[in-house]
Amino acid sequence: MNNLKIKDVRAILTAPAGIDLVVVKVETNEPELYGLGCATFTQRALAVQTAVDSYLKPFLVGKDPRRIEDIFQSSMVNSYWRNGPVLNNAISGVDMALWDIKGKMANMPVYELFGGKCREAAAIYRHADGSEPAEVAEKVKEFQEQGLHYIRCQMGGYGGRSAINRKPEGALPGAYFDADAYERSIPILFSYLRDKIGYEVEFLHDVHERLTPVRALGLAKALEPYRLFFLEDALAPEQIEWFRLLRQQSATPIAMGELFNNPNEWKMLVSEQLIDFIRVHISQIGGLTPARKLAIFCETYGIRTAWHGPGDVSPVGHAANVHLDLASPNFGIQEWAGLSEPLQEVFPGCPELKKGYVYLNDQPGLGIDIDEKKAAKYPCANKVPEWTVTRLPDGTLVRP
Ligand code: MG
Repeated sequence: MNNLKIKDVRAILTAPAGIDLVVVKVETNEPELYGLGCATFTQRALAVQTAVDSYLKPFLVGKDPRRIEDIFQSSMVNSYWRNGPVLNNAISGVDMALWDIKGKMANMPVYELFGGKCREAAAIYRHADGSEPAEVAEKVKEFQEQGLHYIRCQMGGYGGRSAINRKPEGALPGAYFDADAYERSIPILFSYLRDKIGYEVEFLHDVHERLTPVRALGLAKALEPYRLFFLEDALAPEQIEWFRLLRQQSATPIAMGELFNNPNEWKMLVSEQLIDFIRVHISQIGGLTPARKLAIFCETYGIRTAWHGPGDVSPVGHAANVHLDLASPNFGIQEWAGLSEPLQEVFPGCPELKKGYVYLNDQPGLGIDIDEKKAAKYPCANKVPEWTVTRLPDGTLVRP
């Protein structure tokens, strides 16, 4: 394989679960030797497709796919302007595919290339939601019966659901929520859950940046008695200096990072030990190469990983998350959205959930493939969801 070259790079768009996914396939001049990577930026899928097909392909065809680091570095700066979500996702598609190829060449799963297993499977959490505490408790019990030990509890979705009856005349459309009502409701929810279910289960909660910084600080303090496993996105990336105050005033463990794009956003939080879990969306920061470096950086500071794993990560991306989970000593927890049957049909080799743990199939590379004929049966809708236009009761637009 001395003359191994990249022959083709292309984006594949598919939506088997009704969520637009972007997967990149990198083919080589060696017959049957190819790799797959996740490049899913569901709200801007066509922009990622253009970045892959019109810019990365011409830049990469003819290069040696074994040179993962050099390709990552040069792809990052080849546009000169860098670190944006569209280009990072496009680069991630290539980067994961190159790790997949390297694993296939070595005849080893990717976690072996990262140093081997630290554990047999990754513990996961799932998401329990309900309109009132008793309904959330029922969902929690269902998950417990399935063997789950970690459960993220929300009430009425992100930001809660409360009747908004004080909109001004002519208020614009959007997903309205009442931040004050939400903030008051969450300690009541966890008080109820601990009372009914006890402390033998780990609870998590996602604020989704829905509060002002000082209100988020108040919530973190109010939740201390209920011993959360972590409180997620209590503050927006634009407010990261507030994490210093949050840390000084509250002992609730903090998870942060799903919107991060580049090292400048996490450097201070990690080196000052202001968070407990790093939670980036791996394709959003450029793939496995930067994510592995971030995991090792966090290990030094006693911070654990909790890679973002929602429905807008492709099964290829979920597999990449789990390879890193298994090989990282400082793994904390893996978010698991669940993989529907159509997803498993389109992507043979999906990681498998059994009693609260996700297992890989131990095939070489990432161990996952795509059936392109089946993928074509699920075209993308290319529609941006309503929740991305979120408003306060007076109609003010806020972060979703
Ligand atoms: Mg989140």
